[in-house]
Amino acid sequence: MTEVSSSRGRERDSSCRNFTSEETYTIHKMEDWSPTSWREKPAAQDVVYPDRDHLERVLNKIRSLPPLVTPSEVERLRHQLSLVQRNEAFLLHAGDCAESFDACTQENISAKIGLILSFSLILIWGARLPIVRIGRIAGQYAKPRSSPTEKIGDREVLSFRGDNVNGLDPDDRNPDPERLLSAYFHSTTTLNYVRGLLTSGFASLHHPRDWSLSHVRSPALRKEFERITEGLSDALGFTKTIGFGLDSQPYEHGGGRGVLGEVDFYTSHEGLMLEYEEAMTREFALPASLLPSSAKAGQGQHTKFETNASNKHSGPKAFYNTSAHFIWIGDRTRQLTGAHVEYFRGIRNPIGVKVGPSMNASELVRLLDIVNPDRESGRVTLISRYGASKVEQYLPGHISAVQDSKHPVIWICDPMHGNTLTSSTGLKTRNFGTIISELNSCIRIHMEHNSRLGGVSLEFTGELNEEGFSVTECLGGSMELSEEQLGLRYQSFCDPRLNFEQSLDVAFLISDHFKK
Ligand code: PEP
Ligand code: MN
Repeated sequence: MTEVSSSRGRERDSSCRNFTSEETYTIHKMEDWSPTSWREKPAAQDVVYPDRDHLERVLNKIRSLPPLVTPSEVERLRHQLSLVQRNEAFLLHAGDCAESFDACTQENISAKIGLILSFSLILIWGARLPIVRIGRIAGQYAKPRSSPTEKIGDREVLSFRGDNVNGLDPDDRNPDPERLLSAYFHSTTTLNYVRGLLTSGFASLHHPRDWSLSHVRSPALRKEFERITEGLSDALGFTKTIGFGLDSQPYEHGGGRGVLGEVDFYTSHEGLMLEYEEAMTREFALPASLLPSSAKAGQGQHTKFETNASNKHSGPKAFYNTSAHFIWIGDRTRQLTGAHVEYFRGIRNPIGVKVGPSMNASELVRLLDIVNPDRESGRVTLISRYGASKVEQYLPGHISAVQDSKHPVIWICDPMHGNTLTSSTGLKTRNFGTIISELNSCIRIHMEHNSRLGGVSLEFTGELNEEGFSVTECLGGSMELSEEQLGLRYQSFCDPRLNFEQSLDVAFLISDHFKK
């Protein structure tokens, strides 16, 4: 593979504004990058649209639609991730493997947010650290697949690539560009409801039962959770921690509240469909609170940056992906010279990179050189996903290589994607014990290598059926879900997710680790 030079064509502006004594922010102009430059590179997992004109018409429409997230929200997340990097916060990245248009309902969205809030409360209790919450939500539609086609019955059909590409129904597998537009509107609807929930008391500790704990049948789990919420409500100053200590933030944005409401909450998805990501990429002036005072006044070296019509004030600008606060590169699309890495290197958003067993250590460092040439704090989160039986073999080498390179990164553990298996009844599942095993190994290996696990990335769901029962997709946990029970309420059309109880089990395990 040819290495992409990390500094080629970049014109640097060395002026910085100090966030804190250690952290600096550098402004770039990237001569050889544009939101479309990825089009010159090979794209893994490419979707072939039979009617390109139709695709372009849809993309033009998306280009004209408003952003879903704002630059100041993105900057705030970057700042909070830089705190995770400094061990001052913990990252929870969680949600469905894939969202579907049909699952965009009031119940599902509030169950998901409720679970993320419950999980983060347990972590706050154990870790005594603020939690940065990033949902796999409001745009997590596209899926990479191991094969472009699949056999259904005796037919070979195109693989299902996610609701924003084609349909799960084997008769609806032709990629349809209108689905991208539908993804935009479903994301908007989801985000609108999330914003509404979080600005109207849903996250308030005074009503933690609104987060749908009532269905948890295990008395021990309920009791433990209630003990925590009561203890936390009493704790002096707790509201500041849950709201991420907003007053101490260096931002003028948010009016003293968190992003999206009374707690900070951010959205994410895999940045797989580059046409869509490109259409949602917009150039903005950097939020004024980030600029040195000379630039705020429109003076000094920053005036060399141009003004454009949509951004009336002059000053440095950056390209933001406005479809989500955080997007990540999947394990199958992280080729150094590929289209995805090219796209990701130019956006200002914090990004994730999946790191699996097929990544070699020097490749990982070169990837970091490309996507974070200026080694900015909070910019890159490495999401390791080796599998319980392989983590010992790969993680130490990856940690050491990154340490030697002096790249600042956040390491989080995805204990889901390396641990998928097929049950004897043919269902795709994961074993709770194996998930915990990879997570424990990650925590230990980081400690042994003078590193620290900064967070977790989980596929979970708070979804309930009509009788109030959780899904049955992963084996084990305190509810001891057996292979025979898997079929009862298996609702995922993609990867198997931890259900509500199993997720709280994981939260308590992590929380107990921190308490030690
Ligand atoms: C995912 O996060 O759903 C996924 C497909 O992960 P990976 O790229 O790690 O396989
Ligand atoms: Mn998945």
